[in-house]
Amino acid sequence: AQERYASIRDLPATSECGQRIVLYMNAGLMADLPSLKGSGAEGVGLFRTELQFLIRSKVPRRGELASLYGRVMDAAGGRRVAFRTLDIGSDKVLAYMKPTEEPNPALGWRAIRVGLDKKGVMRMQLQALIRGAAGRPLTIMFPFVAQFDEFRQARAMLLSEMERERKLGHVLPERVDVGAMLETPSLAFAPRQFFEMADFISIGGNDLKQFFFAADRENERVRRRYDTLNVSFLSFLEQIVDRCAETGTPLSFCGEDAGRPIEAICFAAMGLRALSMRPASIGPVKHLIRQTNLTDLRAVIEAAKRDGSQSVRPAVMEFLGAKG
Ligand code: PEP
Ligand code: MG
Repeated sequence: AQERYASIRDLPATSECGQRIVLYMNAGLMADLPSLKGSGAEGVGLFRTELQFLIRSKVPRRGELASLYGRVMDAAGGRRVAFRTLDIGSDKVLAYMKPTEEPNPALGWRAIRVGLDKKGVMRMQLQALIRGAAGRPLTIMFPFVAQFDEFRQARAMLLSEMERERKLGHVLPERVDVGAMLETPSLAFAPRQFFEMADFISIGGNDLKQFFFAADRENERVRRRYDTLNVSFLSFLEQIVDRCAETGTPLSFCGEDAGRPIEAICFAAMGLRALSMRPASIGPVKHLIRQTNLTDLRAVIEAAKRDGSQSVRPAVMEFLGAKG
């Protein structure tokens, strides 16, 4: 399928109306990195670091991780790689972690909550990231931030590890961008100071949608019940876009929906300028963005919102059909 899009692989994802959209790929293993070149992705918008922890029978060592992160950055050849710190709990359970019996794991002790409570592992991982960068620019994002203070604390941990590494004589990254994943609706309503402090925000659409509609992403009965193009969800995305625009905070979207061409053009029409997806989705998404007038599409979406539609999908399909 990638051959089909080979002719546009090195072209930018610029819409018919001239809007540039940055397309990144999601990754989690060294083996994913060769796709960077093949897919035409402009970098890695989400590197799921928990995979290294999930595939092992015990906690990986700092040196091992530092070398892996370094090799990932080598393979990316200077392109941005957003390393997401350990996102465990809920659907991601480590073999060597004492299982915690939780009535609702998705709402439980997971991701940054674990990192802030059990600081040892997170510190070790931050040190490995700093060492792996070996002087290069470093991008780190914290998963599942639900309130400003969690981000502030996690960021403070990173800054204190930087100071520690400096004292130990390690070379520090040339610059560090520290972002938060917006995966709980609460974070969209955080104080302005959060948006100012975050170097970027990435919407984790899989979780955000699950919590927005209160529909378990793991439950076959309900996971497809609510359309991503539901007007309420799109309006919510629009609010997030607006809040980020107020403070000039770069915003991206990295859930599975970003890799679905129809969803992707709608996100772009709603003002998202960066999308991160499976490598195989880059070609199809870019192809459709390049053919779409996002201003016209936005007008179609706004009209569908006004006329009481539940989802804008029928109107969007009609708009695309009319174009041929
Ligand atoms: C998300 O929630 O959309 C996301 C990108 O993270 P994950 O799917 O790993 O939870
Ligand atoms: Mg998530």
